[in-house]
Amino acid sequence: MDCETFRRYWLSPDANQITGDLRMDLTYHFIECSACSEASLTYDLQQRGIDLTKYPCIHLAQYAEFHCDQHSDPYECPDALIVYSKKNADFGIIHGDRTSYIQIKYCPWCGTKC
Ligand SMILES: [Zn+2]
Ligand SMILES: [Zn+2]
Ligand SMILES: [Zn+2]
Repeated sequence: MDCETFRRYWLSPDANQITGDLRMDLTYHFIECSACSEASLTYDLQQRGIDLTKYPCIHLAQYAEFHCDQHSDPYECPDALIVYSKKNADFGIIHGDRTSYIQIKYCPWCGTKC
């Protein structure tokens, strides 16, 4: 599968209705092609109405905008990983004690400066 085909199917509101072999092929491409997985992330965040210009990169946007239906506070949610502190205007990884965070200066996924 090439990138153009992938994006035509995957970056669409109907992508979740794709089944069978085509879905498998799309999933493989998503895993193998970092350009397309980033394009897909960007698309999902934009669909959620998230302003990506507020974030240094797509990964920090994805993790800091992580939303859980059960926990409104990311510190209470075991699935939350990255927080943005409005007070300190920095990003951090939530500490194991879930009351504080460790400041990060670079994105752990792509190395972009925060
Ligand atoms: Zn691709
Ligand atoms: Zn949760
Ligand atoms: Zn990044």
